[in-house]
Amino acid sequence: MANFIGAKNIIDKKKKYIMPCLGHFYFEPPQFVRGEMQYLFDDKGNKYLDMYAGVSVINCGHCNPFITEKIIAQIKNLQHVCNIYLTENFVNLAERLAEVTPGKLQKSFFCSTGTEANEGALLLASIYKKNSEFIALQNGLHGRTKLTMSITGIGMWRTDPNPVGGIHFAPNPYCYRCPLGKTYPACDLECANKIETLIQTSTSGKPAALIAEPIQGNAGIVVPPKNYFKRVKEILDKYGALLIIDEVQTGFARTGKMFAIENFDVEPDIMSVAKALGNGQPISAFISTAEIADTYTRPGASTLGGNPVSSTAGLAVLDYIAENNLMQNAKERGAQLKNGLLALKEKYPIIGDVRGIGLMIGAEFVHADKSPAPQELDKVLEQLKDMGFIIGKGGVGRNVMAFQPPLVIIEKNVDDVLNALELVLSKNF
Ligand code: PLP
Repeated sequence: MANFIGAKNIIDKKKKYIMPCLGHFYFEPPQFVRGEMQYLFDDKGNKYLDMYAGVSVINCGHCNPFITEKIIAQIKNLQHVCNIYLTENFVNLAERLAEVTPGKLQKSFFCSTGTEANEGALLLASIYKKNSEFIALQNGLHGRTKLTMSITGIGMWRTDPNPVGGIHFAPNPYCYRCPLGKTYPACDLECANKIETLIQTSTSGKPAALIAEPIQGNAGIVVPPKNYFKRVKEILDKYGALLIIDEVQTGFARTGKMFAIENFDVEPDIMSVAKALGNGQPISAFISTAEIADTYTRPGASTLGGNPVSSTAGLAVLDYIAENNLMQNAKERGAQLKNGLLALKEKYPIIGDVRGIGLMIGAEFVHADKSPAPQELDKVLEQLKDMGFIIGKGGVGRNVMAFQPPLVIIEKNVDDVLNALELVLSKNF
């Protein structure tokens, strides 16, 4: 086996050479050295089932041979020229995105990260609407740049002491802990209705756009009621504001549909995508209708955006999803996993809520009084890691177990993770 420096040395170097804002999971983290579809391997040869996919990135599996072969062929041929020159992969990928995205979304701008895609989506909305007021949802997460951080509604990710103005936050559709203290459906979607009050009282009356994740990822997999986005869109249409949907974490078959917003029967005006589009290659995009896109005429280029290698990955990802029926697998394995978690919730009250669509499922850990139980969750995650299962974590209280595995997982993988979780829960609670 190759010589690896090991987890302790990585942590030492990290302390010395990496900015301390970058944390890491686990009290005793492994050093990952290899990936193979839904599995990861550490420096000691231990095998793990990856149930987090690098935060919804590796939808097609680690080092997927079909995608890797195409990347290798491209990298040997032409790696980079910048998108101010003509190459064909990025226009072919844009054409494919126009085909697979909802409604009239047609024209793309390629960049490298989710943050950049959202920054661009917000810029495009400002250009089209000639207004830079935005509405965002509490507990949403959209990125690290000044504007995308300012539009992020989770305190722990808002490190900028001087955020951008003109941004207003609406209550998020978090039914388990309704920020308005209501119960669905008796609430009549008051969280959505509040957006109208916000527009009337806190903006010029014509904000450029509302940005939202269709399912809030970092917030702890918060799934809105079915008719939430329809109501939101009606309100936005009334005031001429655009709907920007951030599919960075939810896109590319994860929820059993190509994009999560399709579960809510609403067509966004602008959509941002990243993460799973490249299956590990850095590529992102924002895409809009031709009418909106055609107002972005002043020069705009991204050195690495849509580079031949990352666009090759994007094309291969779209082919792999279609040819291997990943949407169907996300639905079936998602249902299996959710049913198993719901059964565990009945047995172990430490699990207060189970929610999600397809293979994006959260299990919220709570104390008897419903207060968040992050330490208990950390203990469970650590023990599962030691048993060979990598599971994510989110939630404003850092108390939501996040299942966002590669979409290639099989029935036995789900059985195995449920059995392991049951064993850990029975030992600890
Ligand atoms: N939007 C959402 C919904 C995300 O989950 C993230 C990152 O996790 C981002 C945007 C930022 O993406 P990136 O880290 O690629 O800049």
